[in-house]
Amino acid sequence: MECGRDVAGRQRNVRGRDGAGAWDRELYGGLVRLHILHHAATMPIYGLWLIEELRRHGYRIGPGTLYPILHSLEHRGLLRSTVQRDSRAQRRVYVATPKGKRTLVRARARVRELFGEILHEGEG
Ligand SMILES: [Zn+2]
Repeated sequence: MECGRDVAGRQRNVRGRDGAGAWDRELYGGLVRLHILHHAATMPIYGLWLIEELRRHGYRIGPGTLYPILHSLEHRGLLRSTVQRDSRAQRRVYVATPKGKRTLVRARARVRELFGEILHEGEG
């Protein structure tokens, strides 16, 4: 699951390293942030769940990349985190704040505007 073990140049690989990963990170980084915000607006989420969810979508993101993203979203007031404990372990759980939800609503309209055209063109 560590970033460094990923195959270099893998398609849609978003990593905190240089090379192809850096360009992918630049190209898809905003989309990944919006996707995180989307899920955090739906239910409480945590890091490992997100890593698996993003992998399901084809993005291999390690904790070294994901956690700084979560921290910056929280720092900007879009996510709020709490630590949940049970008898065995504790984990930090994130939910979207009202500001995060408003940001998501705006982003949805913008993504629809910009990507609607891209997707439409792709259909030929
Ligand atoms: Zn998802």
